[in-house]
Amino acid sequence: MLAASSYRISWLLIATLQVLGLLPAIPAQIESALSAWVLTDQGVLQLRTSRNAQLQAFFQVADANRGIRVWIDFPGELKFPRRLVGRGAVKEIRIGQPRAGITRLVVEFRSDVELNPENLRLRGTAPDRWEMAFIGLPTRGLNEVGEGDLTGGAIAWQAPNRFKPSSTPADPSGLPTIPNNRYRVVIDPGHGGPDPGAVGIGGLRETDVVLDVSLQVAALLRARGVDVRLTRTSEIDVDLPPRVSFANRSGATAFVSIHANALSMHRPDVNGIETFFYSDSRSERLASYIQQQILNVSPGTPNRGVRRGRFFVIRRTTMPSVLVEIGFVTGAIDAPRLAQVGHRRRLALALAAGILNYLKREVQ
Ligand SMILES: [Zn+2]
Repeated sequence: MLAASSYRISWLLIATLQVLGLLPAIPAQIESALSAWVLTDQGVLQLRTSRNAQLQAFFQVADANRGIRVWIDFPGELKFPRRLVGRGAVKEIRIGQPRAGITRLVVEFRSDVELNPENLRLRGTAPDRWEMAFIGLPTRGLNEVGEGDLTGGAIAWQAPNRFKPSSTPADPSGLPTIPNNRYRVVIDPGHGGPDPGAVGIGGLRETDVVLDVSLQVAALLRARGVDVRLTRTSEIDVDLPPRVSFANRSGATAFVSIHANALSMHRPDVNGIETFFYSDSRSERLASYIQQQILNVSPGTPNRGVRRGRFFVIRRTTMPSVLVEIGFVTGAIDAPRLAQVGHRRRLALALAAGILNYLKREVQ
């Protein structure tokens, strides 16, 4: 049932993007915007492009002859079409020119590979850097392949000055009460440092939003007697495995990773709140408490639900763990709100309330 509906969404997405693809008039003879790419052994496609290039990503369902294909179109002329034989779940990678002025990178998977297009997102991580994680892809037998220098000459991201972190702390007095000093919770603000996460409308950066909210959640929980550990407290880059080992060593009762979503700058119509858990029922209940509270302070944005997800930080942590997406930085409803100090304060209160309700009702 899930697969059927997601294919429909993917077809809509393809149709929309193909229409959009006809519109830009790109002068011929401009060099391809694709300057380097790598597909890692963990199934993450990383790209470097010319600055502020407009990319389009497509998903093609499998048919009788071929497996799933995901491709990305870049503006500009390709000099040398080429194909690389894949390993493991990847059958082949092709770089070609489907028509004048467009470079296309195609990843074709083996016919038995299943991917949910809803889990696939092309995220801009800097003006010249992009990433798409093939979530759910079996990584056995994959090896890292790529061309070009992914890091060399990368343009340092300049943080936009628009973002003002919260200065006045949120008032915890309305939050549920729990016994003092009984619980420990790890809060994981996503991304950080050179990895801004998603970058959305008006240059709104996921890392800024989630750090601000996370610090407030931590302060609120501490005000209720919870021992809070944060995986980061400033703009630094912490890789995913250290976040997990930090959490697993901490002896925490719960782990909450806080992120903001993004789709494409062409899809301001996509907004909403979603909370992911990996598999167990305690994590699912923690996700439900948080999702409900966040929806309460986010009127008009869609409920994308409590969902199973295979994100590394919730898959590898040993305590009940969730990853919450507090809105889309590319969404016309969500982005202006996420930029507001007041909304972030309400989100922090909602997250704290969800976590406290879980501790109070589900943990002895
Ligand atoms: Zn994120």
